Amino acid sequence: MDFGLNGKKALVCASSKGLGRGCAEALAGEGVDLILNARGAEALEETAKHINQTYGVDVKAVVADITSEEGRAKVLEAAGDVDILVTNAGGPPPGLWIDWDRDDFIAALDANMLTPIALMKALVPGMMERGWGRVVNITSQSVKSPIPALGLSNSARAGLTGYVAGTARQVAEKGVTINNLLPGIHATDRAISLDGGVAAKEGITIEEAKKKREATIPVRRYGTAEEFGAACAFLCSQQAAFMIGQNILHDGGGVNATL
Ligand code: NAP
Repeated sequence: MDFGLNGKKALVCASSKGLGRGCAEALAGEGVDLILNARGAEALEETAKHINQTYGVDVKAVVADITSEEGRAKVLEAAGDVDILVTNAGGPPPGLWIDWDRDDFIAALDANMLTPIALMKALVPGMMERGWGRVVNITSQSVKSPIPALGLSNSARAGLTGYVAGTARQVAEKGVTINNLLPGIHATDRAISLDGGVAAKEGITIEEAKKKREATIPVRRYGTAEEFGAACAFLCSQQAAFMIGQNILHDGGGVNATL
């Protein structure tokens, strides 16, 4: 299927690795020019080079912390007008509900709620003026089904979800869609780090922690960044123009719910 995105330009945040990179590669495969971003220069440069050589699209790489005001300013200046925005950043650390203090919540809100909101505020008005735009926020299955150890993520992402629900319906008439893509467990560095935490806590190996987690997923495996990227590219497609303010699970059936 041709998604009708050839020649569009996308900013994909936090995209040197993992799910962000999966989204960037899938969009590049559709002929979309890219602005990529991460804090670490080495992996970012490698990813940018790989995507440029593999897909022949223009790729700009901006080293910056997307959760800081100055990092965002740097990325936005390099990006200019974009047609597609994929928001993403690292997830908050795991812990226990009673241990987090105000600073922990502020950091999580900054990274996983206020950063995507700031990016939308900066870029959606231009999309509305031009009459076309796509925003995909990478959130988490924790929005639909809380993950006990990830209370900071549960909280911050729920806030973003509320903002998107109201905002998406105010910009839709100008040809701009905003949707959230909710990953369940995917085989990325983040998953290895979460499995490492379980392994340390339960006195088992990382491989055993992974097997235990896989057994809880109906598909019995972790998702891949490529699969996730394909779902993101679809949400950005011309064909998805009637999907507004949705929260799409990409979780191998992990969330046990009827709706
Ligand atoms: P990952 O494999 O650890 O990759 C994270 C990417 O984001 C890297 O390129 C990293 O590069 C970049 N990054 C992190 N913090 C950044 C920042 N402040 N500014 C700019 N770039 C930043 O993580 P992932 O698995 O793709 O996860 C992506 C998001 O999905 C996270 O919020 C995670 O919580 C959420 N999620 C993931 C899963 C999963 O199973 N993987 C499930 C549910 C939710 P640098 O470190 O060099 O900056």
